[in-house]
Amino acid sequence: MAYYSKDYDLYLGSTQSFCHLCGNVHKLVDTQIVSKDNEVFLRKFCPKCGESMIKISSDLDYYRKCESYIKAPDLPEFYNTKVVRGCPFDCGVCPQHQNHPCLALFNITDECNMKCNICYFSSEPNKGNHRSMEDIKLMLSNLLKVESQPDLIQVTGGEPSIHPQIMEILRYLKKSPVRHLMLNTNGIRIVENEKFVKELKSLGGGFEVYLQFDSLNSDTLRNIRARDMKQIRLKALAMLEKYAISTTLVCVVKKNLNDKEIPDIIEFSRNYRCVRGVVFQPVQSAGRVEAKDDYRITLSEIRSIIVADEKNPFTCEDMIPLPCDPHKIGVGYGAKKMIDGKAQIYPVTGKIPKEIVTNHAGTIAFEQDRAFIKTIIETVSLDTAMGENILKDKIKQKLFCCWPSFLAPSDMGYENVFRIVIMEFSDIYNFDSTNIKRECNFMIEPHKIIPFSTYNMGIKFSQ
Ligand code: SF4
Ligand code: SF4
Repeated sequence: MAYYSKDYDLYLGSTQSFCHLCGNVHKLVDTQIVSKDNEVFLRKFCPKCGESMIKISSDLDYYRKCESYIKAPDLPEFYNTKVVRGCPFDCGVCPQHQNHPCLALFNITDECNMKCNICYFSSEPNKGNHRSMEDIKLMLSNLLKVESQPDLIQVTGGEPSIHPQIMEILRYLKKSPVRHLMLNTNGIRIVENEKFVKELKSLGGGFEVYLQFDSLNSDTLRNIRARDMKQIRLKALAMLEKYAISTTLVCVVKKNLNDKEIPDIIEFSRNYRCVRGVVFQPVQSAGRVEAKDDYRITLSEIRSIIVADEKNPFTCEDMIPLPCDPHKIGVGYGAKKMIDGKAQIYPVTGKIPKEIVTNHAGTIAFEQDRAFIKTIIETVSLDTAMGENILKDKIKQKLFCCWPSFLAPSDMGYENVFRIVIMEFSDIYNFDSTNIKRECNFMIEPHKIIPFSTYNMGIKFSQ
């Protein structure tokens, strides 16, 4: 007689994870991927704690769509470590890894002028450990061994803008073969020091500010950042708008706290000329974040909020998995045109045939890639709708103006790109030893490069 489990409907596969009940990140546990009522779960078997389930997706159809976006891996050019204990204990990067660093994070200080409740690095005032120029040079030469032409370096911390040599570091990295440089900041120095903003502006095209922006609500900001950052955020954004410095807003999302604000944040940010997009990050259990299940939110839940919101133009077809790490990064790209101070956004990702997206070399900074832009134009030009023709002409004109020296997004048209990215990191809850091998965000150290998620999980590495 057939017997069916009450706990799940479909068995989708097996992987390995860590047990979030005992919190042991030194021993992997056998794990199944199962679905129940259109949601997807990790079903973990811990010898000590027994069986447990944790939700990894609220949308089985989207989970399957992610699987169908997996593309040929774009591998590191060099491996810093060997396979000794197996993944994830051999970071890195070891020969098992299946992705190159799309985003290279340079942590230049442990010190911060804030003490956020959700800080993954447990940064705080007086923590010190500013990295020297010698360290930065070693980090860059290590990165260039693994990736000879990096897409994106993000300078982070702690709060990198308080490093005494911040401009020297930014100028040094700007001269490297990197295609795009970002400064990850809480915005305080941008508000307090206009001279610093002018110096940032002098870095020119290919430089961008990655500004913390979790909420428009003071109480919510106090919950996440341990202080009301609302005025700082608004003033920082006004300053970046004044100097026309390309800016991406980054929002850490906690369930039942700021998830309901996602539509308002998109609506608010799109009308700033300087804002090129918003990145939503489900809160990761790391550093000062208390490991609790009740405020976890999945990438698919954030995506559902975005596509259900009728104020923004991004639909299910426009919010697609990023092929290099489809389960962990979702993107929607649009072209933006300001009309009477209001942004009109024409999503383009939904118009690009899937096979073109999955055959393209993996990179987050699509708009810097000539071949990809050409593909967008060719695709969109088939569309006869009035709005899309405006888009076609706009991009074509900009593209031809700078052809063939198309190097940075600002050359394409500073205000012409608006993207929504959902970037989910792995933690003790959702860790999946298959997906972790596709992570493309790496912490760069002088002699190792380590996926952002495993770096933050407290794993003891073999080398
Ligand atoms: S996460 Fe990547 S680099 Fe780290 S051990 Fe696994 S395969 Fe190697
Ligand atoms: S999250 Fe950023 S701003 Fe907050 S304490 Fe950590 S480094 Fe500082």
